[in-house]
Order: sequence, then structure tokens, then C-alpha cells
Amino acid sequence: MAKTVLARLAGACRRVDNAPQARYEALVVSRLAVLASLSLSPRDVPPENWNDWRWQLRNSVQAEDIAKLLELTDDERLGLAAAGHLFRVGATPYYFSLIDREHPHCPVRRQIIPWGQELRTVPAELLDPLGEDTHNPTPAIVHKYPDRVLLLALDRCAIYCRHCNRRRLVGGDDPPTRAELEQAFDYIARTRRIRDVLISGGDPLCLSTEKLDYILSRVRAIPHVEIIRIGTRVPVVLPMRIDDALVAMLRKHHPLFVNTHFNHAKEITAEARRGCEKLVDAGIPVGNQAVLLRGVNSSVRSLRRLFRELLKMRVKPYYLFQGDTVVGTDHLRTPVETAIELMAGLRGWMSGMAIPHLVIDAPGGGGKVPIGPKYLADMNDERVMLRNYRGQSIEYPQPQDKDCTVPYDSVFFADELPDDDREGGA
Ligand code: SF4
Repeated sequence: MAKTVLARLAGACRRVDNAPQARYEALVVSRLAVLASLSLSPRDVPPENWNDWRWQLRNSVQAEDIAKLLELTDDERLGLAAAGHLFRVGATPYYFSLIDREHPHCPVRRQIIPWGQELRTVPAELLDPLGEDTHNPTPAIVHKYPDRVLLLALDRCAIYCRHCNRRRLVGGDDPPTRAELEQAFDYIARTRRIRDVLISGGDPLCLSTEKLDYILSRVRAIPHVEIIRIGTRVPVVLPMRIDDALVAMLRKHHPLFVNTHFNHAKEITAEARRGCEKLVDAGIPVGNQAVLLRGVNSSVRSLRRLFRELLKMRVKPYYLFQGDTVVGTDHLRTPVETAIELMAGLRGWMSGMAIPHLVIDAPGGGGKVPIGPKYLADMNDERVMLRNYRGQSIEYPQPQDKDCTVPYDSVFFADELPDDDREGGA
């Protein structure tokens, strides 16, 4: 029996980095132990259930289950006891099964289980750190940038991440109504400068394929919408959701992009890889928006591994976010100087394709501000002094002619109005 179970779990547990055999077996055994402790041993959970995304959502591991499943630290016990007042706790059995039972610092465990520090708030923390609630012309729309909007399609997720900056909105208690979605479509349709619609929430891939198809069709039918993006953690926490029907539906709505949210290479399992590759094979570019989390992924080694593994499955590291100032997450934020030092350990040391933009999403709705190490030491009309990734100074000569006007613009854009980047409503 053990052999069969190990064989069945083999695909599920195989690391993407050709882990040495002993480590691989340890991973299999550890995952098996978690499953058994959940009373979700493979004997109890036929593969047709385990691989059914709706089963995974129905059987989400809740706060009250966790103490029965893991030996908790005092900090975790305190966090879970307060969970009702903090932010909902929940994760799919699939994602929960990736937990390392022996280590409270396991990056999966840290994202699922609150610590007592969540009870501590510091003065600068906000319920709505990105000022979304002051940029919503209709309840399901956030409009902060000139040509793009965020459409909040639902308020449920397959996991409730301890660092979530939308904890005030998500949890599954107050989904947008049909009327609110209609208002959102109407706002996008009458606001001609919107070129790009990001559908998020909550996690839009937790919707049924039919409902998501309806939302995408309504947005796609608006002539001035050029691209649609979906923000989702489903490839990380519920990869079995990415099935043939979903992919066939999504590809009808091109150009469509998916941005997902892997924070640690431990999350890149065979299932997650299969899910991402399915999307990419359907012509859907997939990007990754990681969050820098203190003590979870805040080492050069951890970030390098994450970004390399993402590229190997054709997921482009897009953003690395400095933690937002959301209530109860101070313990998860890194100092900004540490974030910059970590970036210095990436640029030049690994493929430029693997390097995300490090950004602070400015409090109050100021938008994303890129930060990072300084490579430009000095600049004048004659020359620029650069500092490369090894700290060497290199001179770059400025050109003699400075006029950068593009004469052909007046031909190529002859019939067009100037780019409309004005602020304002519809
Ligand atoms: S999946 Fe996204 S929206 Fe949902 S809890 Fe996690 S970070 Fe928040």
C-alpha cells in the first residue's frame, strides 16, 4: 500500500529542481504525513476528488481545523485564537499539504497560519493601504491610473494570505452583486481612456468557468478595451482548477494575460508547473507578482531560486512588492534598505529575464514606485558614471547631439489625437 501511495504522490511531490533523491523522498513522506493527519489520506481521497478543484474549495482547511492537524507554536496558537477578529484563515487541502510540519518558519505555513503579531498594529498601518476605497467610481471598480482599472469580480479566495492588502474586502461575506457588476461594465464602457482591465478580487479563478466567461465577454465586448488581465493565486494554491475547459474559455478572450503570485520556490510543485504551462501553452502570457515577506523569502538565495524556477516554467517574474502597510502585517515587512540589498544580489548575477521590478505600492493610492540599487553614480552633459553589479565604476560617454524629437511621429500618428493621459472621470 505504502508503495502505491508513494507512487501516486510522486508526481505531486516532485520538486522542479531535480532535488536529490533523499530530499525528494523526505518531501513525499512529509506530504503523506500531513495528508494522513488531515484524515485526508489518499485512501480517503480518491484522485478524482483530490484533483477536483471544487472538492478542494469545499474542503478548505479552516482556522478551527488547524490545531487538530499540526503541533502549533505559542505564536500560532495566539494568532489562530484571534483569527476571527483579524482576517479569515483558510487554504485548500492541496496547499495545506505542502506545509512542513516540523518548521513553523515553513514559507507555506507562514502564509496560511497567523502569528500573534497580527494583533499588533503600528500607527502607519491602514485597513486600505493602497487607497482603493477612495478611487472607486462604482463599488466594483478601482480606477487609480489613467488608462487602466481594477474590476473586483468576487470576494472569495482559495487561500487567505496573511500578508493580503485587501483583507478588508476578501473573505467571502459580501460578493459584488449583479447590479454592481453591471455598473462596473457600464463605467468601463463609458470611460474611453480605459485600455486595460485587471480582473481580480478575491480570486476570479474561483468563479465558475461560465460566470468568468460572462464577465470576460462583457469586458471584451467594449471596443476601447485593448487587454484584459487576470490576477490570481490559483496556479499556486489550486492548480487543478486550470483544466481544459477553463483554458479553452480563456483563450477566446485574447489578448489576455494572467498574473499570479508565487512567493517561494517551495510552492512550485509538479501540479503548479502543469497549471502554469497549460496557460502558457494556450498563448496566455503568465507573470508573477511576488511579495517580499520578512523571514519567509527575504534572502538572496530564496529569491534567486524562486525567480529561476518561475522562468523555467515560462512565468515571467514581473513585480517584487515591498510589503504594503496593511494592519497587522508589520512583522512581515522588510526594511526598504534590505529589499534594495536583496535586489543587488539579483541584477547581474542571474538572467535579466528573471529580475522583477522592486516596487513600493505607495500608501494612499499613490501608485507603484520602482526602487532599487543605484547604478547611476554621476551624470553630466559629457559623460555618465555607472556602477555595475560588481561595484566597478565605468564611464559611458554622452552623445554630442541632444535633440531627440522623432520627425516621423507626425506622419505615423497623423490622424490621431495626442495620447490621452488626463486624469478625471468619464
Ligand atoms: S489570494 Fe490575493 S486577494 Fe486572496 S487573500 Fe491572497 S493576496 Fe489576498
